[in-house]
Amino acid sequence: MTSIPRTEAEYLLPDAAWRRTFRRRLAAWFARSARDLPWRRTRDPYCVWLSEIMLQQTQVATVKPYFERFVQALPTIEALAAADEQQVLRLWEGLGYYRRARQLHQAARVIVAEHAGRFPRDREAVRRLPGIGRYTAGAILSIAFDAREPILEANSTRLLARLVAYRGDPASSAGSRIFWAVADTVLPRMNVGAFNQALMELGSTVCVPKAPRCDACPVPVLCRARAAGLQAAIPAPKPKRPTETRREAAVLVHRGGRVLVVQRPEGQRWAGLWDFPRLQIHAHDPAAIERELAEGVERLTGVAIRPGGHRTTLRHGVTRFRITLACYDAEYVSGPPASRRWPTMRWLRPGELEAYPLSTTGRKLARLLVR
Ligand code: SF4
Repeated sequence: MTSIPRTEAEYLLPDAAWRRTFRRRLAAWFARSARDLPWRRTRDPYCVWLSEIMLQQTQVATVKPYFERFVQALPTIEALAAADEQQVLRLWEGLGYYRRARQLHQAARVIVAEHAGRFPRDREAVRRLPGIGRYTAGAILSIAFDAREPILEANSTRLLARLVAYRGDPASSAGSRIFWAVADTVLPRMNVGAFNQALMELGSTVCVPKAPRCDACPVPVLCRARAAGLQAAIPAPKPKRPTETRREAAVLVHRGGRVLVVQRPEGQRWAGLWDFPRLQIHAHDPAAIERELAEGVERLTGVAIRPGGHRTTLRHGVTRFRITLACYDAEYVSGPPASRRWPTMRWLRPGELEAYPLSTTGRKLARLLVR
């Protein structure tokens, strides 16, 4: 007797024949199409974990050199745990979302303290590590240990949404419940790590967000979105948050061949990194900007300055903000650095900045100073 589906998830779950065909075709396609990526040459859980954290919200091509440099500098969990946080952030510099690096470092210390330096195999123990959510735990456990754990990230979610022709928002709580159920149902019993990687690979290289390449897809006959001509409409586009423009200034305060730098504290953008005093500016007239810089730097650092010339302007984005960053030189006038906002400040020679982790724009300014 065929059971009657009672929930939306049950309507969406593919049947056994569909699953068998899907797994077989996906495995054959992955065997001939998988990209050769540095983290795929090993099943060392440390490398799998590191790559998964780096790949969050970051493109494969960007991650590759970072991954190789990081593993060369800190080749084991023990080495990462023993490293200074500043070294970890310096290796991460430019990759963004620095909280990932700090949590990776904290998690390595937990693994050394509580698991004798060996990456845990137990799902609950993995989920308790800083920075590891359901997806990352599933990816590490399936890829490194072949555990039967489903995964769901942007690429596999999009692929599954099209395969089952789900018209709702996969990121909603109902969508998330459904897709975890679908991801679990399609899993094979063996070679789970390869299967999960193949799902992500097909999503990121063929079933791409705009204009999926259905002619290169190994499973077009199984795809309900393609059958209905709905590939472009699924998944439903997310409402875009409007971007905001913002003007900021970075001030290079000079004192006897050194410049003032501040360490970003916990809870601020770029926590743990170093930066030049930076503030939002509102004035447009040059004299008014100078006043705003002098008052702002003194209020934020305790140091009185005499603003000098405009050195350069950089444009960059942080989350939804489009920032125009004007950079000014300034001369130190008086006062010891003292600030509740930035409790740690230093006077450094430009050459010393090379050893300090800086934001991307901070590094550009540091290089200008050295030149
Ligand atoms: S047929 Fe097209 S839309 Fe369907 S899974 Fe393949 S690439 Fe994606």
